[in-house]
Amino acid sequence: MIAANIIRNLSRHPALVSLVVLTSAAALAAQTALPTPATEKTTVIHAGSVIDGVSSTPRRDQGIVIRGNRIESVGDWSAVKVPPGASVIDLSGQTILPGLIDCHTHVFLQGEVPAEGGYDAELLKQGLALRAARATVAARRALDQGFTTIRDVETEGAGYGDVGIKQAIERGYIPGPRMFIATRAISTTGGYPLEGYAPELEMPKGAQLIDGPVEARKAAREQLSHGADWIKVYMTHRSWIGEHGELVSQPTLTVEELKPIVDEAHGWGKKVACHAYGGIGLHRALDGGCDSIEHGLDLDDTAVAQMVRQGTWFCPTMTAYYLEWAPAGTPDGDLDRKRAEVHGPSLRRAVAAGVKIVFGTDVGGFPWSDSIAQEFPRMVEFGMTPMAAIQAATSRAAEMLGMAGKLGVLAPGAYADVVAVRGDPLQDVRALEGVTFVMKDGRVHRADAPAAK
Ligand SMILES: [Zn+2]
Repeated sequence: MIAANIIRNLSRHPALVSLVVLTSAAALAAQTALPTPATEKTTVIHAGSVIDGVSSTPRRDQGIVIRGNRIESVGDWSAVKVPPGASVIDLSGQTILPGLIDCHTHVFLQGEVPAEGGYDAELLKQGLALRAARATVAARRALDQGFTTIRDVETEGAGYGDVGIKQAIERGYIPGPRMFIATRAISTTGGYPLEGYAPELEMPKGAQLIDGPVEARKAAREQLSHGADWIKVYMTHRSWIGEHGELVSQPTLTVEELKPIVDEAHGWGKKVACHAYGGIGLHRALDGGCDSIEHGLDLDDTAVAQMVRQGTWFCPTMTAYYLEWAPAGTPDGDLDRKRAEVHGPSLRRAVAAGVKIVFGTDVGGFPWSDSIAQEFPRMVEFGMTPMAAIQAATSRAAEMLGMAGKLGVLAPGAYADVVAVRGDPLQDVRALEGVTFVMKDGRVHRADAPAAK
């Protein structure tokens, strides 16, 4: 309406022409880009070593020229001509990498301990404003640790709260990573907490519960229309140890319920992430055409082959399954150990078969003050090289997010998301737990190391 009025008035007010041009340019920039910086400031980073996210080997003594929020060039330091007025950041004693990407987070979870009421207390006793306030802290902690992008796979009962957190970051109100969000997630009746209350009570749920293909498609449409970048679907729920000592998982959606969700998401140019441990639910997820398997604790050979054939991504989230085990000899403790027991071999099988793997942690399931990068040594422990693990958190993750060449890589044209660590993560991948410098979108968020000279 406003634009139409301005255009109608143009002939009477020629001065408005330039206003319209400026406004349209600004609007276009806002639509096409992730956040844009206020100035076209030039920064040059002197890098001791560069792991660019794509190349198989690092390069020593490099210069990275950044103009505005984009990388202009990466090359030998000796050949860099520092433009007049540029600021130079000396990281010549450190290893420089693209900003890291965690493909499985929950900013609306805070690693609640059972003694304090656990997950249920989060939904029952914390109002949305409190949960949103805590989510802003979670987002900041991700960025502090060098994670400049996250795929946040559902709000756990906080509705569309992630849309607001993402907007607040994009508009510069709060610091945080670039966010790809899943909003509410989808499961079925009997397929998600809160559970275990008197049956006559109508309890809030941590996901949107659907039954039947019509409700499934409607839920996907609702979530996509409110800003979901991904649809998250729970394909398994409860798990237990079966009579032969195997891990068994309760399936949730049928293939007939999953297919309309995948169809709808793909129609919008979006993707579907499926939480699936193993068994029937995992096979339904793959038969239904999901784009990524989350956790995949118990991938059998058939599933691995199908993932390779269909190009399905695997986000193993090892860390969450190695923390906070219940005491051995209790049902919960035995289940915790069984999950970990099958999970490692599952990742090994996927690595050996060439499944496409991305880095994800399920942080939020554990506290955001804990190390997110502790996932790297787990990935290496179960068959990935340090370089493959780094690429899973950079270029591979970017590829899954539809951002190849723009995120997860240090190369001309990419967004200037840059981190530094002391030491060589290819020798000891734990070096990634000690990020000393974080730049996101061309702006320095954190610089513990010697700064501009
Ligand atoms: Zn999760």
